Amino acid sequence: MVASRSARERKAAAQGGPLARVKIDLDAEQQFVYKISCSSCRAKGHRAWSTYRPGEDNGFMAAMDRWTFHLVEKHPDSEAPCLAFLSEAQQRLHERREGVVPEAGS
Ligand SMILES: [Zn+2]
Repeated sequence: MVASRSARERKAAAQGGPLARVKIDLDAEQQFVYKISCSSCRAKGHRAWSTYRPGEDNGFMAAMDRWTFHLVEKHPDSEAPCLAFLSEAQQRLHERREGVVPEAGS
């Protein structure tokens, strides 16, 4: 359990790129809760951006999608492996909130 938790933390941190600070907590049901925060926003003294998503792979995906959108919006010059999945993330966002969020450029 502990090993797989830290392995998941490393995997998420690697995908999130140099600005991502990933932490996995356990909730009351011993489920993983993914927390990704932005070291750049924190360093600038802004209210630290972070996303907090419970669940195993679903939580990982949802947190990583939110993180990807944050990078695109606030740190467009940054590099991160998760940016390769931006279009998939947008697709998932679309499926979750069908018709609610109009996507730019469509
Ligand atoms: Zn940021």
